[in-house]
Amino acid sequence: MKCYDCDVTGIEETVAIGVCRRCGLVVCADHGRVTQVLVHRANGVGKATSDRPARRVLCSPCHGAERPH
Ligand SMILES: [Zn+2]
Ligand SMILES: [Zn+2]
Repeated sequence: MKCYDCDVTGIEETVAIGVCRRCGLVVCADHGRVTQVLVHRANGVGKATSDRPARRVLCSPCHGAERPH
């Protein structure tokens, strides 16, 4: 699979590392942003978050769009 951002900029033969969780486009290591998020559990008592953060892939436009201003 080709990275979408590389494809539109004319870069060939990129290796995709993941799929953006927001828009679903394929991204390479240069254009993808892997972030860690805490998973919130709704299980009543005790801690509300998992000890281990979950991993999430976003493309750079979606990462930029989600960043707090
Ligand atoms: Zn790329
Ligand atoms: Zn995206």
